[in-house]
Amino acid sequence: MGKAIAAVGLIVSLLTLQILTATVEQRRGKEVERELKIVIVTGGHDFERKEFFAMFESFKGIKWEEKQQPQANDIWLGETLRNYDAIVLYDMWQQITEEQKQRMIKWLRDEGKGLVALHHSIASYQNWDEYARIIGARYFIAPGKAPDGKEFRTSQYHHDIRFVVKVADKNHPVTKGLPEQFEIVDETYKGWWLAPDVHKLLITDHELSDPCVAWAKRYGKAKVVYIQLGHGATAYNNPHFRTLVHNAIRWVAEKD
Ligand SMILES: [Zn+2]
Repeated sequence: MGKAIAAVGLIVSLLTLQILTATVEQRRGKEVERELKIVIVTGGHDFERKEFFAMFESFKGIKWEEKQQPQANDIWLGETLRNYDAIVLYDMWQQITEEQKQRMIKWLRDEGKGLVALHHSIASYQNWDEYARIIGARYFIAPGKAPDGKEFRTSQYHHDIRFVVKVADKNHPVTKGLPEQFEIVDETYKGWWLAPDVHKLLITDHELSDPCVAWAKRYGKAKVVYIQLGHGATAYNNPHFRTLVHNAIRWVAEKD
């Protein structure tokens, strides 16, 4: 009896192995991308929720969860972030504790957790220079100093601008599938600080915008992408914006 059970067990194991091998081969053949789990941080700024999350629903193989501020900053504490491949910031928030700051730095710099910062998240944490260094920029809600000491007046925004965006590096994984240039109706930002160490992905020469509107960078072990576009539904529904955000999530989630 014991032998019979052992034999059945062996057959089951072999069959399981065969099924698993077949699945892996099938996936390779179709180049199915790894399923990712991301957390989207919101709060402190209104947005068209339905349309915004419909964009993430359209991304194949990406499961998302929303965390709203002020509770959202607790994701930096504890071990919750081990369950996620990347973090998307779409909040505009100023309150963060010293412990949350240090843990955020650690998750990025030492653990290499991927970060995509969108649109108004450039104006978060006006009084925390390291945040501006992490994402590579700061929009000034009020006159102030950039991390490099340069003085800035209040930055400006302009809604519903139809402008042309050009790809600055067509060989980068984040711009894969984008045309050389495309048009978008979106909000522009002007007069903000851009860190010198960013790798420019998208540029524009529209007079109401600063020239660089998307970039990639590293922060310790973490890959970081910032995309200035993304105010409302005209951006969320723009197929090129969707490609950009999807590529950015996949790129930052993949560790080297
Ligand atoms: Zn906006």
